[in-house]
Amino acid sequence: MPTGSTPRITAGLKLSSRGQTAIANSVATGQLKDLLNALSRGPLRSAVLKRRFSVSTIELATRERLIKRVDITTKSRAGTRMEDWVKIEENLNPKETKAQLARSPRQAKLFEKLRESGPVLASKVRSHSSDSRALRELLRRGLVSVEKRKFERKTLGDAPSRDRLPKLSKEQEEAVGILTRAVKKKRSETFLLQGVTGSGKTEVYLRAIATALKDKRSALVLVPEITLTHQIVHRLRARFGDLVAVLHSGLSENERFEQWEKLKSGEVPIAVGARSALFAPLDDLGVIVIDEEHDPAYKNSEGFRYYAHDIASSRARADDCPIILGSATPALETRYSAEGGKITRLKLPFRIGKRPMPSVRFIDLTKEQASAPRGEKLILSPPLLKALRSVLDEGGQAILFLNRRGFATQISCFLCGHIERCQNCDISLVYHSTNHSLRCHYCDYKTTPPEICRGCGGGQGSLLGTGTERVEEAVRGQFPKARIGRLDRDTAARKGVTQTILDNLGEHRLDVLIGTQMVAKGHDFPGVRLVGVIHADHALHFPDFRAAERCFQLLTQVAGRAGRGKEPGQVLIQTYNPEHYAMKPALSHDYETFYQQEIVARKELLYPPFCVLTQIGFSSSNLKEVEKAAEHVARLCRQNASHEIAVLGPAPAPIARLRGKHRMRILIKAPDHQDLLALVQAIKIADAQIPKTTRITYEFNPIDML
Ligand code: ADP
Ligand code: ZN
Repeated sequence: MPTGSTPRITAGLKLSSRGQTAIANSVATGQLKDLLNALSRGPLRSAVLKRRFSVSTIELATRERLIKRVDITTKSRAGTRMEDWVKIEENLNPKETKAQLARSPRQAKLFEKLRESGPVLASKVRSHSSDSRALRELLRRGLVSVEKRKFERKTLGDAPSRDRLPKLSKEQEEAVGILTRAVKKKRSETFLLQGVTGSGKTEVYLRAIATALKDKRSALVLVPEITLTHQIVHRLRARFGDLVAVLHSGLSENERFEQWEKLKSGEVPIAVGARSALFAPLDDLGVIVIDEEHDPAYKNSEGFRYYAHDIASSRARADDCPIILGSATPALETRYSAEGGKITRLKLPFRIGKRPMPSVRFIDLTKEQASAPRGEKLILSPPLLKALRSVLDEGGQAILFLNRRGFATQISCFLCGHIERCQNCDISLVYHSTNHSLRCHYCDYKTTPPEICRGCGGGQGSLLGTGTERVEEAVRGQFPKARIGRLDRDTAARKGVTQTILDNLGEHRLDVLIGTQMVAKGHDFPGVRLVGVIHADHALHFPDFRAAERCFQLLTQVAGRAGRGKEPGQVLIQTYNPEHYAMKPALSHDYETFYQQEIVARKELLYPPFCVLTQIGFSSSNLKEVEKAAEHVARLCRQNASHEIAVLGPAPAPIARLRGKHRMRILIKAPDHQDLLALVQAIKIADAQIPKTTRITYEFNPIDML
């Protein structure tokens, strides 16, 4: 149910029949009398009464059975709004009407206006006092009437013009053939549609959806972020007209309710939205599409933890429909399932119309930094600066992308970009300034930061901290006239700002956009000729076993942002590691080469898909308490685990403190779910021994490893 749409039930009190008799006979006095009188007009909420009357009065009345408990239902906040519309009555005799209104010029004028305009909102007429009076008279005479109409919000904006069916490419034809058969035959099978950006994946979705609609079934389309709903909704409406509803948290309560109701009533068969749209009230699903399926946003890591793919699978099984997972860079687990034959892989290897992929080039920061003035840290290297200058001179647009998330706690070398890693886990170590140590957040390995870089032997290790603001500053310094926008977690926190900035870029009110990974996702900006990545290495050194995968995905996605228009696009990536296996294949948009190497690494270190990973999280405002709880549970884990299960930790979470709470975690690697479930059952019993002030969370296949 959408929020605000369900009635709320609160505790209340009402008069009993004894109470009514007591009032009638005036037996009560003082406060008790006032209380009974207050309730004589109907039940009231307990909270309200407690503010007005003493506890003893309420207790006395309850004891004497003068009042009793009752549930009070408050109306839901969101709902369908009805509006009054005024229209003139049909089948009126013009002559008679004219005669009737002959001596009332105001009424005659209003009547004439309504006849010309057709039905009008009553509130509009009533806003003029003279018209309001005239309307009352016209209603009394039976010349006009008021009808209730459902108020429709303009949630989706104006409808786009209808598109024309393109002739499918050979590869699209093949994919569409297989998918439409699965839709028609009602097979709850999962397909991976693997295709580079611009290869026509969306067109394939549209065809599968059309087949579902033809069979009078519904369709669910998921995108990773609210800002991406806009484009897909546009494509869907251009193909299917008004048969589309959106569901996401960016809508107002009323808008969401209205969209939800359109789906629930069956009026509209296609639901589009971010993760939570999985719960759209659709009957008889014909197909589920998960676009950009590799995106970590498909995991809900707070509250009710779920992975969109899992919920989609159960819906698909319930309704007998296929799932299409679309991506240029599939999640490793998804791609691996295709090898085992658990899911079917469909390939779209080329861009539509043989449009070239943008050219991608690395800028080796080790070399550039060597020729920079001593001590100066390069943000924009000379080659990137040159490219930016020529694009701006020619009136083109550029995106500068900072490949990092919120916190800079790895120690990396200025000169070679080397980062210290854990010897046990091959995960980058995180710097703790409080005790000047480097720690592994998987196994809790500790070491002191090295004085001399272990990568190149020279220089001094130093904290890396290039935020989006610093990049903006650098660009402003070089291009004072350029119109610069910035998009990161800070700016995005303000409602509507993200869309405005993206619109500004789309309509060329911005020359340069600087941003974090939010910029990278599926947006389509034809004017963007240059994409620059400031520091690709950040993603690589994230304390997460998926760091290499994320790095490759991000670079490939970013590269896909350039050259979507007629002009060829250029992508420049600044990095210390141009030879890294997660970097090099990004040059040629070569997912398969990356995949073949990464899957070997996962197998060696026993990370998913070769194990089921479970994260047990502990958080409390009391550090001692959280440590004790984590150690207690870790001990239990080790006692109960079979020899095939590895228990790592407890260790502080990479974000060791969040909103005042200390956070610890244990990671468990198990060969399969069965072993793991038995173990978790055993440890859950320990919950009772742990103080309530420590929160414990169990999460299978965690994606947010922070
Ligand atoms: P993707 O979703 O893989 O990025 P799209 O489906 O958006 O790719 O296709 C890229 C562009 O090519 C879009 O503008 C789309 O309208 C167009 N397109 C897709 N399929 C065809 C086709 N068979 N013939 C012509 N144009 C097509
Ligand atoms: Zn480790």
